[in-house]
Amino acid sequence: MHRIGSRAVVLGASMAGLLAARVLTEAVDEVVLVERDTLSADPVARRGVPQSRHVHAFLGRGRDVVDALLPGLSEELVADGALLWDLHGEGRFEIGVGALARRPSDMVGVMASRPLIERGVRRRVLTLPTVRLLSPVAAEPVLAADRVTGVRLHPGTPGSEDLGADVLVDATGRGSHTPAWLAAHGRPPPPESSVEIGLSYTTASWPRLPGDLGGAKALVVAARPERPRFAGALAVEGDRWLISTGGYGGLVAPADPPGFRAFIASLGIADLSELVHAREPLETVAAVHRIPASTRRHYERIRLPDRLVVTGDALAAFNPVYGQGMTVAALQALALRDALQDGPDDLTTRATRRLSRVVDDAWELARAADLELPVVPGGRPAAVRLGNAYLDLLTTAAVTDADLTAAFVRVVNLLDRPTALFRPRVAARVAWATVRRRRTAAAGTAPVPAEPGGPRVPTPPGS
Ligand SMILES: Cc1cc2nc3c(=O)[nH]c(=O)nc-3n(C[C@H](O)[C@H](O)[C@H](O)COP(=O)(O)OP(=O)(O)OC[C@H]3O[C@@H](n4cnc5c(N)ncnc54)[C@H](O)[C@@H]3O)c2cc1C
Repeated sequence: MHRIGSRAVVLGASMAGLLAARVLTEAVDEVVLVERDTLSADPVARRGVPQSRHVHAFLGRGRDVVDALLPGLSEELVADGALLWDLHGEGRFEIGVGALARRPSDMVGVMASRPLIERGVRRRVLTLPTVRLLSPVAAEPVLAADRVTGVRLHPGTPGSEDLGADVLVDATGRGSHTPAWLAAHGRPPPPESSVEIGLSYTTASWPRLPGDLGGAKALVVAARPERPRFAGALAVEGDRWLISTGGYGGLVAPADPPGFRAFIASLGIADLSELVHAREPLETVAAVHRIPASTRRHYERIRLPDRLVVTGDALAAFNPVYGQGMTVAALQALALRDALQDGPDDLTTRATRRLSRVVDDAWELARAADLELPVVPGGRPAAVRLGNAYLDLLTTAAVTDADLTAAFVRVVNLLDRPTALFRPRVAARVAWATVRRRRTAAAGTAPVPAEPGGPRVPTPPGS
């Protein structure tokens, strides 16, 4: 690895910042992580990561990358209570006309609460001999001419001090101040793309018993155009189901148990509804989180001051519909490592291009899913409309075709690019399944199609 200098500073010690710090240890003598929150040794939710109370699936691709960067991490997480899950074999994806066909695969992710995953990564990164943590400390970049030279630390006491840096990484998440900081220094902020999703998550945990939810470790109930509501139930440590539900366009699921149950019942998934009605939640009031918009900052289209790199949600915070944020953060760490390998010259431009490219597929997948919902405002270019129509046919066919589900899950898992779904072999299977289904329906022998709103579920008393 090319040496970049003596010190790197990373702002934000959450997933993206920790993984960036790990790769920076290969290029500098010392990495200083600056985190605004007080960090606990226990896996607890914290203020700076408000999404940490909500379901977080860690995909197989992300797990593979993190295990390569921090060997043995998965085993440590499992020792802490996390579960390994086979995305295709143990993930149940309900799409309205049924669940995608399952079969065992080698795409194995980690299932645990977000604080447990983050604590595991943090514990490992902080044992690296050249990594130092400053917390609770907030900071902002220091600019000299056209280059970032370090950070001004605000340790919570009156006054501030400067810390020099040869590279500065902004991993402060969705609320990153870099656009405002650029503007304050008379530089253009990045152009932004956004999708006004008006998404909300309401989350509580429930006791988990063997055999629940058909043996799946993850159940995802997808939102549909006529019913912009979703749910996700993930098996996590402590024999719990972490269950998030919510809606788009400003729809928020109630946080009290009766309201939460009624909202889940409205999704029409019988065993999920029965589970939340038959048991008591472990919290009396569920946590609520709102995501007004997906936002992508196009730093690749402006000239950032040299030695500044923006990563993670600070670069793009998109709808977590496919659970890709932490995996994208892991892939961005690899992209940063590639950029560091080519030395310090023009580092910011090269790294920014690479990191931004990592975002492309996840952003487009999430955007396409959002724009399928009429409640989400915005233009629908022909490519999005055609792509979504094709994806509908593909996932419908995948209910009875595990090969098609595998192709879809590989794309969600960021192993394959979305274009893989348009390969002739895949397209032919989709076409054949569609023709067969239509012929069967025309002959009057088709199973009764799912009603809008899903199959009817008896609503248990008291809901
Ligand atoms: C409801 C919800 C559900 C999600 N579900 C999934 C999922 O299933 N799977 C998945 O992979 N991803 C999921 N994500 C996305 C995932 O949470 C993020 O993509 C991931 O955490 C990467 O975030 P980050 O490290 O860039 O930022 P964050 O996790 O937001 O962390 C930012 C950090 O910066 C710190 N900070 C902020 N300002 C400063 C400052 N000035 N100085 C110092 N420190 C500062 C904060 O305290 C925090 O530690 C979900 C997101 C949401 C909102």
